Amino acid sequence: MSAKKQDLQAPKGMHDILPADQPYWAFLLKKGKTILEEYGFERIDVPMVESTPLFVSSIGEGTDVIEKEIYSFKTKSGEPLALRPEFTAGIVRAYIEHGMHVLPQPIQLWTWGPVFRHDNPQAGRYRQFHQMDLEIFGDDTAAADAQSIFVAYKILESLGLRNLIVKVNSIGDQNCRPQYLKALKDYYRGRDKKLCAKCQVRIKTNILRVLDCEEPECTEINKNAPQFMDYLDTDCKKHFTEVLEFLDEIKVPYLLEPRLVRGLDYYTRTAFEIFIEPKEGEEIFPSALLGGGRYDKLVQFLGGPKAPATGWAMGMERVILVLKKLGIAPPESHPQPKIFIAQLGEIAKRKSLLLFEEFRKTGIVAKATFGRDSMKSQLKISHRLGIKYTLIMGQKEALDGSVILREMDSGVQETVPVEKIVDLIKQKLRK
Ligand SMILES: [Zn+2]
Ligand SMILES: [Zn+2]
Repeated sequence: MSAKKQDLQAPKGMHDILPADQPYWAFLLKKGKTILEEYGFERIDVPMVESTPLFVSSIGEGTDVIEKEIYSFKTKSGEPLALRPEFTAGIVRAYIEHGMHVLPQPIQLWTWGPVFRHDNPQAGRYRQFHQMDLEIFGDDTAAADAQSIFVAYKILESLGLRNLIVKVNSIGDQNCRPQYLKALKDYYRGRDKKLCAKCQVRIKTNILRVLDCEEPECTEINKNAPQFMDYLDTDCKKHFTEVLEFLDEIKVPYLLEPRLVRGLDYYTRTAFEIFIEPKEGEEIFPSALLGGGRYDKLVQFLGGPKAPATGWAMGMERVILVLKKLGIAPPESHPQPKIFIAQLGEIAKRKSLLLFEEFRKTGIVAKATFGRDSMKSQLKISHRLGIKYTLIMGQKEALDGSVILREMDSGVQETVPVEKIVDLIKQKLRK
């Protein structure tokens, strides 16, 4: 069976990360890993697939992710599995499965990798995309939320991003949420016909989600909707105030965003997203680079022990898109070659392979194209790469144990015994 034309294109919404883009990924990962480790976060890796019911109960029936976007399938033995659409469910599963709650708390974890959603592909949005993810278990304090936000902010800042703004809200808890939901219901009663079609359904299934609808008719009505802030009970208000005080203290710029909600029951209190705030007339990236919040009831909800938790996920493709838009170039992720080894003929090819290895062992990065036979094309490549020294080994040099050293700028050449060449290059590079 041979591949058809459409088989030779990446599946819709999925993309290759080509060599030219790798420095951005290496840059983002290096910065992220360094800061996460400095703040005591430990790496965890979870499978790319988990049981479908785990995702359904953790993300929630009735959400877009579960209704439309999840890639679920049955294995040949009939097991219902799904590609992970996010990390939290799998990490919570691992926390419960490995009894991490008996370890000293908090447990601070991070990970990164591909996640999958059968979404409508658009700018910065893919069906296979990558997230960097942080979770803190066993800590219900406002300090944990502030730390989680701070680490996120620091990572983005360390990439060279400026004008970052944290939009933050509190969505209360089981104690105070019912009063707020009732106030919302009362508010939308009589206004519901003016909402978009989706929100007319949401009013019955998940009324909080009406608040963050982006349809113009809904944003208009939402402007005057009651705010959670006014309905928080004493404990939730205190928690939120503390989060904000911490953010003031650590000088993270934030904005109260009453329409920022997360729709499910086990999400509690802090919800936040980080954006780039464009300057006047500037268009950088309108969506959140990163979002998260507290989910104090999820571990229990999934059958685990009582373990409050907070965390976030970063859209890595989005961050890289923004870096490119802003012209922030990542540093070279691999060292530039210092010498080029050109060869002609079979014996020379074998000997120059050995020479290549000699240089590698001394830490001098060499470049060679052993597949090329024409000397002219090899020298051309050396020129294109801007390499200063090229070593040339032809049939004659291979036989008498020498090599020609050519200084590329001047074209000056000298013949050097092969056993002396590594030292000589070392000396020249030192200058
Ligand atoms: Zn409350
Ligand atoms: Zn709507």
